[in-house]
Amino acid sequence: MIITKQKDIDDLLNALRDGPIFIAGCSKCATLCHTGGEKEVLAMKEVLEKKNLKISGWVVLDPACHLQNDKKLLRSHKKELEESKVVLALSCGNGIQTLSEILDIRIVAGTDTLFLGEIKHVNEFEERCVMCGECIADLFGFCPIARCPKSMLNGPCEGVKNGKCEVDPGMDCVWHLIYEHLKETGHPEVLEVIQPPKDWSVSAGRGNKWKI
Ligand code: SF4
Ligand code: SF4
Repeated sequence: MIITKQKDIDDLLNALRDGPIFIAGCSKCATLCHTGGEKEVLAMKEVLEKKNLKISGWVVLDPACHLQNDKKLLRSHKKELEESKVVLALSCGNGIQTLSEILDIRIVAGTDTLFLGEIKHVNEFEERCVMCGECIADLFGFCPIARCPKSMLNGPCEGVKNGKCEVDPGMDCVWHLIYEHLKETGHPEVLEVIQPPKDWSVSAGRGNKWKI
């Protein structure tokens, strides 16, 4: 899931400047993160109205990163959008860009997109993947690229202490987890193979396209 956090309200007020404002949330990741579901969209509407900003309308896109669904759903909000000066997007960065592709209105990002992560508990998320384009997590059981602050492919580094990471002692060293996992599954020999340097040319952040 894509993990987002809501931006600071004062920063948002500065960015929004004035209305009318149309608020767009997302039914998937932002809903689960409690940053852009219906509840948060309505709460944001209330906050902005209390600041005397006019809200022209709102919608929860399904999901915000789906171009065709967004086009269809936004058509039913045509009038509200026509009178809007700005759209406040409570979705991940992908949803924000999908909105920019459809609308000729200034978009303000209401969230910061953090990472691809796991839901540990309600409102508690941990980074699991940085979309490197060549997955090796199956080899180790855990991802050393996303979960090691140094993205070490042949770990651990010499800073590991009692199974904890030297960069963040509150965190398990992923290479410790990998070692335990490979031992328990009966494949410690995987650690004897030196991993080659990673080819970052296939990773996220390069405007990649993919067709199935
Ligand atoms: S190896 Fe790459 S694709 Fe696989 S989980 Fe790690 S970062 Fe994600
Ligand atoms: S202690 Fe482990 S997780 Fe932390 S930087 Fe070193 S190898 Fe990576």
